[in-house]
Amino acid sequence: MTSTGTQSSQQATRTSNDITRLKGVGPRIASKLEKLGIQTIQDVLFHLPLRYEDRTRVVPLGTLRPGMQAVVEAEVDLAEISFGRRRMLLCRISDGTGSLLLRFFHFSTAQKSQLQRGTRLRCFGEVRPGKKGLEMIHPEYTYVSDQAVNDVEQTLTPIYPTTEGVHQLKLRDLSEQALALLATGQLSLDEWLPEQLTDKMNWPSLQQAITTLHRPPPGMDTDGLIEGRHPLQQRLAFEELLAHHLSLRQLRHRVRHFHAPALPDDGFFSKQFRQGLPFTLTGAQQQVISRILEDLGQDIPMMRLLQGDVGSGKTVVAACAMLAAVDAGYQAVLMAPTEILAEQHLKTFQAWLDGLGLEVAWLSGKTKGKARTAVLEQIANGQAQLVVGTHALFQQQVDFHNLALVVVDEQHRFGVHQRLSLREKGQRGERRPHQLIMTATPIPRTLTMTAYADLDCSVIDELPPGRTPVQTVVLPESRRAEVVERVHNACARGSQVYWVCTLIEESEALQCQAAADTAELLHQALPRVRVGLVHGRLKPAEKEQVMARFKAAELDLLVATTVIEVGVDVPNASLMVIENAERLGLSQLHQLRGRVGRGSRQSHCVMMYRAPLSTPARARLAAMRETSDGFVIAQRDLELRGPGEVLGTRQTGDMNLRIADLLRDQALLPAVQQLAEQLLQQHPQAVDPLIRRWLATGTRYVDV
Ligand code: ADP
Ligand code: MG
Repeated sequence: MTSTGTQSSQQATRTSNDITRLKGVGPRIASKLEKLGIQTIQDVLFHLPLRYEDRTRVVPLGTLRPGMQAVVEAEVDLAEISFGRRRMLLCRISDGTGSLLLRFFHFSTAQKSQLQRGTRLRCFGEVRPGKKGLEMIHPEYTYVSDQAVNDVEQTLTPIYPTTEGVHQLKLRDLSEQALALLATGQLSLDEWLPEQLTDKMNWPSLQQAITTLHRPPPGMDTDGLIEGRHPLQQRLAFEELLAHHLSLRQLRHRVRHFHAPALPDDGFFSKQFRQGLPFTLTGAQQQVISRILEDLGQDIPMMRLLQGDVGSGKTVVAACAMLAAVDAGYQAVLMAPTEILAEQHLKTFQAWLDGLGLEVAWLSGKTKGKARTAVLEQIANGQAQLVVGTHALFQQQVDFHNLALVVVDEQHRFGVHQRLSLREKGQRGERRPHQLIMTATPIPRTLTMTAYADLDCSVIDELPPGRTPVQTVVLPESRRAEVVERVHNACARGSQVYWVCTLIEESEALQCQAAADTAELLHQALPRVRVGLVHGRLKPAEKEQVMARFKAAELDLLVATTVIEVGVDVPNASLMVIENAERLGLSQLHQLRGRVGRGSRQSHCVMMYRAPLSTPARARLAAMRETSDGFVIAQRDLELRGPGEVLGTRQTGDMNLRIADLLRDQALLPAVQQLAEQLLQQHPQAVDPLIRRWLATGTRYVDV
């Protein structure tokens, strides 16, 4: 570790790091640079190019190929204005090896008259195929006089991300100045990675990595650079991942300084509840529950992520945790992302807890008027010990009396910032509630290590006994008649069927219409089958009624839009048909399929697709046919779609990675995690500078 951490050198760095020290940066430009996350000279150095242009050599015209970006030097043969459909300036140049047509749509007459026959030009642009040979459209060009020295660029030309009012040339100039300060030692970059690591990985120094990435030498393989697999970039990607990881770990440390109510684990309700359950908890459930109760017994806020595949029985775990809060005289709240799912939790809880004389309060965005006032009142005065609802619970001004535990179900699509703002809700001075986040879409380990590094992680890796894996077939639309026949047979055997409609159109109205049409067609084709319909446009009461009838087996076939994706639990359903399955993502398909296979009967899932299948769609359906393990599916999903999609766009916005790529660089993560721990323990002075370097102030995970 070669840090130069003395007071005076820090002082020197701080002042010399001031962005306005660069020529051409006044307050106006400085404020524009902030939009790019650039506040200091160091930030300029960490604002890395997106790609490069090769202006280091003059390419003979005869060797140009379409698609190349090249510098050429040649003499004007002819320049003329063409009055076709569009007025344009055409200029043919040649250099003895070949010729090239330059095409300008915007030009002045003066420009034309300067392009005399015999004038030497140096141009840069992209080569394209034209009707009469190769051409460049609007190349950059300069005049070359006979005595001109060879002034091609000495390095590849960086192309930076820009923002309004700060153009490419400006950024190039600023980075030039910053690199000069670095080269002359007037600015230094502390090296925080241990030599042991950089030696082992054969990585260059930070200064070398930064310098080379801004100005790669001629001949460097830019394709490799753009892919980000070059050791220079791996060196930086590692450090960036480290900075993000540290930021989240630091957050975790900080939260652990707050207090939370310590909840004893053997209260009256908890005991009664566990004794009264209609089933025996699985080993995995028991383990997770005791881990959670251990956490809750501490006066430090728990922050735990609970992962468990669909149907693994997370709800009962949530109930156990919530009852620990109630036993200790506190409130607990459970939030779900959709109305249907929240309602189902409410029902489940009511069924479980009624015998215990506990009431469950309900609040959703649709709770209005007097009911709403009453519930808010009960939540505020502590009468409501258990509260179930949608996220509306926290979007609105809900005031808890003494909240000790927040459980968030199916939290997968939320990002770090949302998590933070949730945590803030039950805050009372130095007190924070415990937090349990449950997700049914398993998150690949690589992602938990980065995006969820502020949480402790538990996994329910066992399904309740008696489940048989769902058999999945993939069929083209053209075999629809067979599928309808299967539905008929299943219903005749007394089992129930889901038929899920997805639609090409994004509009909810059209989706609902399609589901209604399908329900009608199936009704006509299968007159003896009792068909129900649910979609997002039904009133909650109607939806509830249909669901209740399906649950009570008064309906055999439920035609639905993807609203049934999460949570719905009808063990007697043993066949699921998914239309246009090729249009859905892997995790959504997995969630849907998880609705069947909940009883003891062998269950089936038919995924119908409309040919032709795209390559990724084929890969998705193949994955679904091959495995029912949510973790395997999540990993495939990550590989097929990339981490941004898997985590949801908001999450990617949160991460805001500049150079690292979670998928490409996953091999680095174990070492990142290890070094982060080591730095936090042994070199805490490295933590802040590292975070500051990579996470612009705006995206930093501050605990608000
Ligand atoms: P998920 O993890 O998908 O939220 P649920 O909590 O909805 O799963 O549980 C799925 C079903 O399994 C429910 O009907 C639940 O009552 C049942 N269940 C949960 N745990 C067990 C168990 N240990 N033995 C038998 N059934 C269980
Ligand atoms: Mg659930």
